[in-house]
Amino acid sequence: MYTLLAFVIADYITGVLRAGVERKLSSAIGFKGIAKKIMIFIVVRIANLCDVNLIKGDGTMIRTAIIFFYIANEGLSIVQARILSPNHSGRRNQKITKIAIHHATGVINGRNIAGVFVPRSRRASAYYNLGSDGVIVLGVDESNRAWTTSSSWCDNRAVTIEVGNSTRGPQWLVSDYILNRLIDLVTDICRRNGIHPCTYTGGKDGVLQKHEWYKNTNCPGPYLGSKFPYIASEVNKRLRGDKIVSNPTSGLYRVRKSWSDVKSQKGAFKNLENAKRCANRFGLKVFDSNGKIVHPVGKIIEELAREVISGKWGNGEERKRRLTNAGYEYKEVQRRVNQLL
Ligand SMILES: [Zn+2]
Repeated sequence: MYTLLAFVIADYITGVLRAGVERKLSSAIGFKGIAKKIMIFIVVRIANLCDVNLIKGDGTMIRTAIIFFYIANEGLSIVQARILSPNHSGRRNQKITKIAIHHATGVINGRNIAGVFVPRSRRASAYYNLGSDGVIVLGVDESNRAWTTSSSWCDNRAVTIEVGNSTRGPQWLVSDYILNRLIDLVTDICRRNGIHPCTYTGGKDGVLQKHEWYKNTNCPGPYLGSKFPYIASEVNKRLRGDKIVSNPTSGLYRVRKSWSDVKSQKGAFKNLENAKRCANRFGLKVFDSNGKIVHPVGKIIEELAREVISGKWGNGEERKRRLTNAGYEYKEVQRRVNQLL
């Protein structure tokens, strides 16, 4: 409860400061903000009453769930406005595993970048528009597929960000302040989508992506482009910080039927040998914290390869998706299949 209170107060104070800086502090907006936050506490209180009176447990289940929902929601406040673009394809067809950082080729504020993508005739959009003024504007919901990087492969996998410059070409500089805002935003995207570490490999296999790899363009420009390794390392420092503070369950071995079948879990162990013993007792498998199967490996691959050959796992992308969702290393299984055929 106190954690939520702290988040709400912090959000309100930063909101006031921001509005003050932008000289837009109006009592109407301030009041709406306060009313919304009072509502949150009323909802939490109602949830608590539901717990006590309906479930008759220790009175925390629904309340805790709702508090977590609001904390997650308050966390989203890194986005200060939404100016949605109609230019997207609807739901993306891939999990978010990439982040493509573009530059806006202009000294332009966040709301104006987002505004550029509002007309349908523009045929382009970005998820986040980070202006030269530091304001971050949501343009496309992350669950949809935006049109930013001239590539269906990349746009289906990536969250894309337009970044306002501090000077025009040929250097297209980006201020240190904006670079820090960008690092905050990329960290937030990684946290919410389970991307860890945030890699820059100089190629499409890494997390951070450049527009110039997909199209003949100078995006993201010489300066911002040179900062990609720095961005990745700063984001990873922050993500590592999280792990120590708030992720005590990482590194556990989970015993389940398949990775996606959470309900079948019989236990989670720090010690791999204990996990294996449990798995053997119940005829289950052991998965590491990334959902990769670690026991029993040899027999499983052999078994799976035979199942794949008999057609049980479908073909092509479907086969890859189903095997991966079940926690198997698609590449290893496919390698064994190729050996057998
Ligand atoms: Zn671009």
